[in-house]
Amino acid sequence: MAAVELVGRESADNDWMNAGACRGLTHLFFPTSAERPQARERREATARQVCGSCTVQAPCQTYARRNHEYGFWGGESEDERHAAGFRLIAPIGVRARAS
Ligand code: SF4
Repeated sequence: MAAVELVGRESADNDWMNAGACRGLTHLFFPTSAERPQARERREATARQVCGSCTVQAPCQTYARRNHEYGFWGGESEDERHAAGFRLIAPIGVRARAS
């Protein structure tokens, strides 16, 4: 999932992406436009399970935090990254409304 989404980003050490347990599961890690809160909770709970079995969770989480990523990465939602002090570039929800 992440490897396709991140071509051209700042980090040069992205080899871990090839080992992600989420490959082919992009729909679980990024919201659709106008996703309802209950659907988001279900989607993110499933994504969290996938991340829990992933061997590259640590570098994935670090990457997402450093690059202010949207979506679910490294066992963390956007809200959780934000709460941990890794702010999104735009406020939460802006991207979903714009698409
Ligand atoms: S930790 Fe989660 S989002 Fe990151 S590569 Fe693994 S499965 Fe994908």
